Amino acid sequence: MVLCQDFTLHTHTNEFDGKNTAADMIAAARDAGFKTIGISNHFIVHPTINRTKLYGAAVAGGYQSMYSTSFSEALAKFQPHYEELMKLQDKNPDIRILRGMEVDFFPTSQWQDGFAHVCDVLRPDYLIGSAHFVEYGGTVCNVHDMAAVDAKTCDEMLKIYWQNIKNLAESGLFNWLAHLDLPKKKKLGTGKQWDTTKADVVATIARTKTPVEINTSGYKLGTGQPYPDDKIMKMIAEHNVPVLISDDAHHVNQIGMNMDWAYMQAQDCGIKNFPCLQKILDFRGKRL
Ligand SMILES: [Zn+2]
Ligand SMILES: [Zn+2]
Repeated sequence: MVLCQDFTLHTHTNEFDGKNTAADMIAAARDAGFKTIGISNHFIVHPTINRTKLYGAAVAGGYQSMYSTSFSEALAKFQPHYEELMKLQDKNPDIRILRGMEVDFFPTSQWQDGFAHVCDVLRPDYLIGSAHFVEYGGTVCNVHDMAAVDAKTCDEMLKIYWQNIKNLAESGLFNWLAHLDLPKKKKLGTGKQWDTTKADVVATIARTKTPVEINTSGYKLGTGQPYPDDKIMKMIAEHNVPVLISDDAHHVNQIGMNMDWAYMQAQDCGIKNFPCLQKILDFRGKRL
């Protein structure tokens, strides 16, 4: 039984890169004591994504369906998925089911126009802003690609990464921001030299009043830290940035996992601003 929150909003299902069906994830959330579950599969649209190294890795792993080269392709995946979630809501009146998305934002007008149309059609309940990629050298790279290049190139990519996070906050499109220090997944960007950049990013997030998540999937790295780590959590506390706890569950066994632990760790860092579910759903400043 998870005590810190009665909702879990960052979850993935097997039509995208999750391992279980939405029906199974909903049942697992109910069993864990949640009153609300949000399903937030990846919304990733980039015209050249299928020509990247990371796409090849996704094909090998069988999870390439999370990537789309056009908005119509992504819409064709999300429409039946959202319809299924609405049917599941009818079948499961004892738990609230929300329709979310974990969105990779690309700051071009073409992307924003395409995304606006998608939101018009799908009417998602909430949007999670995320930066899994940096555009570098004419292609799209993820943290695995960043770990495979020389230190100087990697530093340039990390700078772009943190700028992406600022862009996410400044866009006003998102209910909250996902896993702030994701590059540490590959032990990148953890050195002291990045502290001022991180402080600057947190200041931007605070100014835009964007909430952030404490994401328990970070514990898988074995460093005892969620995303973001306690140094960033302390910066978040100083600015009183609103916080929610996410499990980023890709499997039924991950629903609610370590959420209470993360909540305690966040409190130890001085975080006090944990808004209720309705406030989180209302946070999105800009609706396209
Ligand atoms: Zn993510
Ligand atoms: Zn996720």
